[in-house]
Amino acid sequence: YRAKRGRHGARVWTPEGTTDSRDRLRTLEELRAALDTEELVPHHQPKLDLRTGRVTGVEALVRWEHPTRGLLTPDVFLPLAEQAGLMRRLTLRVLERSLLDVRAWRDAGHDLSLAVNLSVSNLQDLALPDQVALLLETRGVPAEALVLEITEDVLMADAARSQQVLADLRRLGVRLSVDDYGTGYSSLTYLRALPVDELKLDRSFVTSLTRDPRAAAIVRSTRQLARDLGMTFVVEGVEDAATLEAVRRMGCDVAQGWHVARPMPAERFPAWLAGAAVRGAVPRQRTPG
Ligand code: C2E
Ligand code: MG
Ligand code: MG
Ligand code: MG
Repeated sequence: YRAKRGRHGARVWTPEGTTDSRDRLRTLEELRAALDTEELVPHHQPKLDLRTGRVTGVEALVRWEHPTRGLLTPDVFLPLAEQAGLMRRLTLRVLERSLLDVRAWRDAGHDLSLAVNLSVSNLQDLALPDQVALLLETRGVPAEALVLEITEDVLMADAARSQQVLADLRRLGVRLSVDDYGTGYSSLTYLRALPVDELKLDRSFVTSLTRDPRAAAIVRSTRQLARDLGMTFVVEGVEDAATLEAVRRMGCDVAQGWHVARPMPAERFPAWLAGAAVRGAVPRQRTPG
């Protein structure tokens, strides 16, 4: 493994150059063990409602608090988990922990939704909907407060099967979101076929929005498409004030990105939220620095 500067400024480890299969094996063993401990934790990134300026939910993004390597981001271990057939356990773990967090915040009076990412293998897992239902029940979070994010590649594996899983999830009352929209193949077919409630445009279109008129045109027209389909339109990757202002003016519904907040550990969220309420949640009102 090679250390490098992560996008969060923390030291992260990448599997680049890991030709040594013993390294992979060791990481895999550690990952298996981590699934039984408290090392895999969700960090939460706020979702900002652009019309009201309020934070209406969070997205849980898994982190591995590795005892010796520090905080690991999903790119290091998700592919490994996927290959090793550990995604069911990982997803349920993330769901369980993040439902606990959100339940506490809801109990404290914040009407927040929770978004959790699913992987390709989760959508092939016919047992998933029942397990999600059980977790919602035991955690006391209404199904309507849960958003499950899927990417366009879920249909590449076994479309009939994933359609089944998605239909079962939706029957629970859970909402579905298309993540990284615009980067997969046959996006429009996908939108037509799937019962989705939310569309999240990939951040590559959003980060270049203020410099690239073509990206801006794509954001605007995708927003219109989402509206015509009756879907909530979310933009991710809002990294500065100018972009936030632009997506607000374009009529996007919800924004996520570093300019609003980076993903943070659950313990930090209540204080952040309290500060956001004081500021009106809208970061442009924040004093510089
Ligand atoms: P995603 O679901 O599209 O999540 C957004 C990613 O962009 C996150 O990376 C987030 O930290 C990052 N991000 C947020 N705001 C900004 C911004 O303004 N600029 C930039 N450049 N990046 C931003 P992260 O946490 O490393 O997650 C990467 C991907 O890993 C996620 O993409 C998702 O596909 C997957 N993932 C994360 N957690 C889970 C999980 O619990 N289960 C599954 N199955 N997949 C997960
Ligand atoms: Mg996501
Ligand atoms: Mg995304
Ligand atoms: Mg992604």
